[in-house]
Amino acid sequence: MSAVSTFDINRERMVEEQLIPRGISDPATLAAMRTVPRHLFVQDAMQVQAYGDHPLPIGGGQTISQPYIVALMTQALQLTGHERVLEIGTGSGYQAAVLSRLCERVYTIERIDALLRQARKVFDRLRYYNIVSRIDDGTIGWPDQAPFDGILVTAAGPRIPEPLLEQLADPGRMVIPVGDQASQSLQLVEKREGEILVRTIEQVRFVNLIGAHGWQG
Ligand code: SAH
Repeated sequence: MSAVSTFDINRERMVEEQLIPRGISDPATLAAMRTVPRHLFVQDAMQVQAYGDHPLPIGGGQTISQPYIVALMTQALQLTGHERVLEIGTGSGYQAAVLSRLCERVYTIERIDALLRQARKVFDRLRYYNIVSRIDDGTIGWPDQAPFDGILVTAAGPRIPEPLLEQLADPGRMVIPVGDQASQSLQLVEKREGEILVRTIEQVRFVNLIGAHGWQG
């Protein structure tokens, strides 16, 4: 029998109070949110706040998204366990970790070396071995590994990067915040029989996507 910690209790409350009442209903997404220890992805001093209803700083001017936003973006991909998913903006690694419980393999790209090094330590500690990562400009995607059944972008740019649209499988789903630097629309992009359908899920605020097909750094 393993002991139940305050973190476990707070994580369950997060699901019951922040996710379910706001319409997160996909059982697999809720199970992943109940499983992944979010507190391990933030600095020690911030662990007590890890399950709060807000984003948190992770260093380098970046943030780990609010739990609800992570769940909303994850649910929108409608994963069934067999997909290969590309994430742009590893940051703390938390979103990649959640995705890794729901698909076959996660490919995640980060542009800040120190953040990726820290995230990799946590992946190893948790033995999440189906996450592969690299340092690069994620706006050009990961051409060698394309196409991807799902693409999730966790930083916001002025438009959908063309290489990511090209690297999306058919059928495939991409979730990406697009807009100006103050506020953005979270868009669900679906590719089906050669057609691209775009719809807005929610208004959001993300850090900048910096790169060749994003904002200039
Ligand atoms: N998914 C992360 C959120 C981190 S914030 C988490 O769960 O913690 C967004 C991240 O995107 C930042 O770490 C930032 O450095 C990164 N980023 C911004 N532009 C990028 C680009 N062109 N390629 C890769 N990463 C980028």
